[in-house]
Amino acid sequence: MQKDSCIFCKIARGEVPSHKVFENDDVLAFLDLSQVTKGHTLVIPKHHADNVYELEAEVAAATFAAVPQISRALQKETDAAGINILSNTGKVAGQSVSHFHLHLLPRHDKHDGFGAKWEVHNDEYTPEALAAIAKSIQSHL
Ligand code: AMP
Ligand code: ZN
Repeated sequence: MQKDSCIFCKIARGEVPSHKVFENDDVLAFLDLSQVTKGHTLVIPKHHADNVYELEAEVAAATFAAVPQISRALQKETDAAGINILSNTGKVAGQSVSHFHLHLLPRHDKHDGFGAKWEVHNDEYTPEALAAIAKSIQSHL
């Protein structure tokens, strides 16, 4: 179901312009208006879901199915050395638009504008602790 007020649904319906890089029946990809690196692209399902929690498996599959082809095109266009693919769910994770999307960020070097702080806590998460956490997560599936 598409939402009247959702900016990405409006883009998917063609009511709001975008710089489209890919489209099929289920998926649209367009340039992020705020480019972190050249070619920074958003990949969205046309079917509205607020976030990953609400995403149906078939919609997720269709959305990610488009990612390799788009990534290869971005790599060719930008001569990127790598790419980060990420999705933010929830304000705490940086989500500002409540329509599920993947960010594709071509990468060149550590100082190209994208940085995710990534602190590891190996002391706290012993192998025993990891085993307990994994088992507990499984109980919620
Ligand atoms: P997030 O913060 O992960 O929810 O990402 C939302 C992204 O959508 C931001 O990077 C915005 O720059 C981008 N954005 C918002 N509105 C538009 C728009 N009309 N066209 C293209 N990108 C947009
Ligand atoms: Zn939407």
